[in-house]
Formats: sequence, C-alpha cells, structure tokens
Amino acid sequence: MGNCSSLPSSSTTTDHHNTPSNGGIKVLPPTATPPPRSQHHHHSSASGSTAVGRVLGRPREDVRNTYIFGRELGRGQFGVTYLVTHKETKQHFACKSIASRKLINRDDIEDVRREVQIMHHLTGHRNIVELKGAYEDQHSVNLIMELCEGGELFDRIIAKGHYSERAAADLCRQIVTVVHNCHTMGVIHRDLKPENFLFLSTHEDSPLKATDFGLSVFFKPGDVFKDLVGSAYYVAPEVLRRRYGAEVDIWSAGVILYILLSGVPPFWGDTEQVIFDSILRGHIDFSSDPWPSISSSAKDLVKQMLRADPKERLSAIEVLNHPWMREDGASDKPLDIAVLTRMKQFRAMNKLKKVALKVIAENLSEEEIMGLKEMFKSMDTDNNGTITFEELKAGLPKLGTKLSESEVRQLMEAADVDGNGTIDYIEFITATMHMNRMEREDHLYKAFEYFDKDKSGYITMEELEQALMKYNMGDTKTIKEIIAEVDTDHDGRINYEEFVAMMRKGNPELAPTRRRK
Ligand code: ADP
Repeated sequence: MGNCSSLPSSSTTTDHHNTPSNGGIKVLPPTATPPPRSQHHHHSSASGSTAVGRVLGRPREDVRNTYIFGRELGRGQFGVTYLVTHKETKQHFACKSIASRKLINRDDIEDVRREVQIMHHLTGHRNIVELKGAYEDQHSVNLIMELCEGGELFDRIIAKGHYSERAAADLCRQIVTVVHNCHTMGVIHRDLKPENFLFLSTHEDSPLKATDFGLSVFFKPGDVFKDLVGSAYYVAPEVLRRRYGAEVDIWSAGVILYILLSGVPPFWGDTEQVIFDSILRGHIDFSSDPWPSISSSAKDLVKQMLRADPKERLSAIEVLNHPWMREDGASDKPLDIAVLTRMKQFRAMNKLKKVALKVIAENLSEEEIMGLKEMFKSMDTDNNGTITFEELKAGLPKLGTKLSESEVRQLMEAADVDGNGTIDYIEFITATMHMNRMEREDHLYKAFEYFDKDKSGYITMEELEQALMKYNMGDTKTIKEIIAEVDTDHDGRINYEEFVAMMRKGNPELAPTRRRK
C-alpha cells in the first residue's frame, strides 16, 4: 500500500509519532510508510513443526494445494497480496500472504488473528471484500479474498482531482453503508481512508469494497477506546484525546467526503503534529475553490459528519438519510441490519435445513464465529450462556433496530431450535451465521453425514425422523412436508444432490452460476 500514513497501532508506542515524508503530492497530502514493528529478534518458535498453526490455531494447510500463485498485486505493512487462481474452478482471487516470521510478538499475532476474525464476521456485505478462506502453513498466513480489479479509491481521486456531487454522493453512500454494517455488527473500523477502498472492476460505476480491517475492533455499546490508531488525515479529534467510540468512523468518512468533493483533505500539514493541531482546532475551510460552487446541502452534510463532539455527529443511518445523500433516486428503504436479516432468513427455513445449519455451526472454527460470539455475549447480559426473550428484546435495539414485541417473539421462536424457550450459544450462531458458510462443500458433506446415519448415501424418512426428534420437531406432518419439498426425484428419500440443492435454495448468490438480478 505505501501511501498511507499510519499512526503507531498500539498505545505502548503512541508517543512516538512518525512524521509523513514530504513527498510533495499536491492533490492529496504527502504520506509515509508506517515504521516496521520491533524487528530485532528472529526467534524460531518451538512450535515450528506442529500440526496446528500458531496464528489461526487450526490445522495447517498449504494454500498452494488449492491455488496457483500469480503476479503481485500490492504490498502492505505485513503482507504481500498476490493474484491467485483456484486450481479446479480457475476462478481468480486475491491472496494476502503474511509471513509468519514477521509476526514477532503476541500483539502482532493477535492483530492478524483479529483481522481474520473480523473479516469472517463481516463478509457477505456487498461493499465489503469477501473472505473466501484462511490458510496457515509453516511459513505464512494466507487470506483468500474476492479479487478487486479496479484499483484503490485513492488512485481514482488522484486521477480525477475531485468528483461531481452526484458521484461523490454515490461513493459516500457506499462508504457509509460499510460503516453502518460494521457498527450494527459490533465492529469499529478505525482506519477508513481512500486507500482502504478498492473498486471491484475498472468500470466507472463499479461497486466499492472495503478491504483492510487490520485496525478494526469488536465493541459493545458504551465501550470506550483509548488506543491512538488510524491514519493522520482521517483521525477523529477524540482519538487524539484518547477517549472514543464508534463515531470515529463517521468522522473519517466525513474527511473522505470532503476530499471527494474538493480533492484536498480538510485538515492537513507537513507533519503529523501540524495535522493533529488542525484537527483539534476543527476549522473547516469552505471558502476556497471549489467550495463556493458546491451545494449548501453537501456542505451541511460534511459539517455534520465532522462535528467535533462525537455525540453531535450524525450516525451512519442519519448520514444515509440526509437529503443530499437521497437526492437523485437514492432510495429510503430501510437499511439492512445484517444479523436481523440473517435471523429472518433462518426463520423461513424448513426444519431439516435448520438442523443441518446447526451441524455446520458446530463445525465452524473459532475464528469464523468469534464475531458472533462477541454479539452473543453482549446480548447475554446475565452471562448465563442463554439469551432470553427479554435479553433479545433489549439487545436488538442496541444493534440499531426497532422491532415490535411480536417480531422479537417470532425471531426468538425461530432461533430457539430445541424449543426450550431460550437461545443458547450455538443456536445464536446457527441463526445468524452468514449463508456463505454453505459454499464450503466439506461443511455440507458433514451435515449430510450427520443425517445419513447408516452411510447409505440417502437420508431416509426414519433417519430424518430420528434427527428431528432430538429437537422436538419430528412430527409426521413436518417430515412429510420436508420430504415433499426436498425429494425432487420422488423416491421417498433424500440423496446428497437433493440435500445440497435444498441447502443452497433461497441463497441466490450461492447458486453455481452466479446469476445476479
Ligand atoms: P495493508 O498493509 O494496508 O493491510 P494490504 O495487504 O491490505 O495492505 O494491501 C496491499 C495492496 O494489495 C493494496 O494496495 C491493494 O491494492 C492490494 N490488494 C489488497 N486486497 C486486494 C484485493 N482483494 N484485490 C486486489 N488487490 C488487493
């Protein structure tokens, strides 16, 4: 990446600010590569050859068994990103490869682990780069991501100077949609900047994707953060004061919007200290060109995103509902709260599918479910390992959603697979995990095997009945309905193909031919 000026990323090193080099770029201020983290020692860890990776903590697997490596796409602080091709499907992906030897201390490892957890947690949103898989072998951690061929937003701004109001609004909407999704999923991004958004394709109207969650953290409402992290031009004043929450992302998005409209950042200087002083002073220049010709509605939005007091700053939803954002056909349809959408999808599933998902949920790795585990914990206020109706009713509004009593009741009943009146941990994961977990053939196969007790290759009526009985849903009517729905060749039992087809039905994005709209 290289053109980002990162602040030191842990509070232990924060008093040593690294100064941006004076590169003399006019459009955007000069930038510098962050300093390498302590690099003197190179201890070979004792766990050198064990079967479990020391970063992801799961069995080692060589990414090269599945993917062929191609050219380098870019470099970051810890890793190199390559173009890779899936050996069987020939599909292209990006692979961020992080050398294990660069991860010296516990914090480095923790950072990478958290980045992977957060990407797993957020994946599935159209403006967030999709994480396809994570591999760890002796030498490296490899993250297989959706390939973004359109380059960085940063480079497009440089090429254009600045955007029209309409185009800026469209990009801002995508950026703030990411913020909304992060916040309702319990994540603060903490490093929003144009370098961290990539275009999916080179088309003018390509979707924008957030890529880098290296500084992101899980949070619960009310949490207060103190680490000085971020990138100089985009950092909110309360971060500099070491007392902040999720509102910092709106500030950074406001800085990006200012840049999109004018081509220059609102707060700048030759050294980080000068930039910080300017941020703390908080004066925003709307008198230089091109601001006099920019609509007052656009300026009003920028001002409200750059309010010094985080409590006065707009929330992601308020930004998306601002009149300037909604001009030109922007819809006012309610925004998707990911967890809620997932619960609603889950509610609509047949019981076989629910139990199958539970089997899949039980087989997910720790890093894949970490984010949902955090959400579960934040709702389980009495920490007893189950969510009651009251806890769910209190927890959902914290994610930013208003639901009627009966809607909460419906979700409760849907997620409560075993019907005992509360949602346990694994039920919560089952009902809220992203459906792309089903893309993994090994997951589907395990689930199928769970039902096909005698390994005949078919799930019979009896096997289905037995499995569903365990969850108090094995009544004859339900079983008949399921067979009728799933058994497409009408032989009275369910084979693996029928099972896979059923699991993928209702998730158009997972259909083998990626049809869209
Ligand atoms: P950082 O150290 O900031 O995390 P990254 O390793 O995320 O840097 O990215 C390094 C470079 O690789 C970026 O400049 C970006 O252009 C490129 N890159 C990262 N992810 C992708 C992707 N999914 N598709 C294409 N290019 C990517």
